[in-house]
Amino acid sequence: MKLDPDLRLGIYEKVGIYADRFSVPEPKVLLTTREVLDMPKEMTEGGRTSAYKYLGLSYNNQSLIFINIRKISNEKDLENTIVHELIHQRFPYLSHGKRFNKLVRQGLRGKKFLPYQKRK
Ligand SMILES: [Zn+2]
Repeated sequence: MKLDPDLRLGIYEKVGIYADRFSVPEPKVLLTTREVLDMPKEMTEGGRTSAYKYLGLSYNNQSLIFINIRKISNEKDLENTIVHELIHQRFPYLSHGKRFNKLVRQGLRGKKFLPYQKRK
């Protein structure tokens, strides 16, 4: 997709809505690899120069996500990617797999998630 100010605003809005539903602080959103590289190194560790390869990335300890607009071709993939990265933010220890995908589907359907609680 081509990034223009309208799309950028639309993405920030969507991220805000989903962040609220998933009970995570609204993350800062990076939309180009340039923006990733402009961030301080320690914030984007592990996903800087490789960022261009992915549809999106979640920097879990940073309340920071990257949505790779250049690589995303339509509205549906965009929504999917936003929800995917926010599920990473809400469930920081969960890796990809069946359970992860189920949470993404639930998120897309509008499910609300309670705030993350550290296990005692
Ligand atoms: Zn992922």
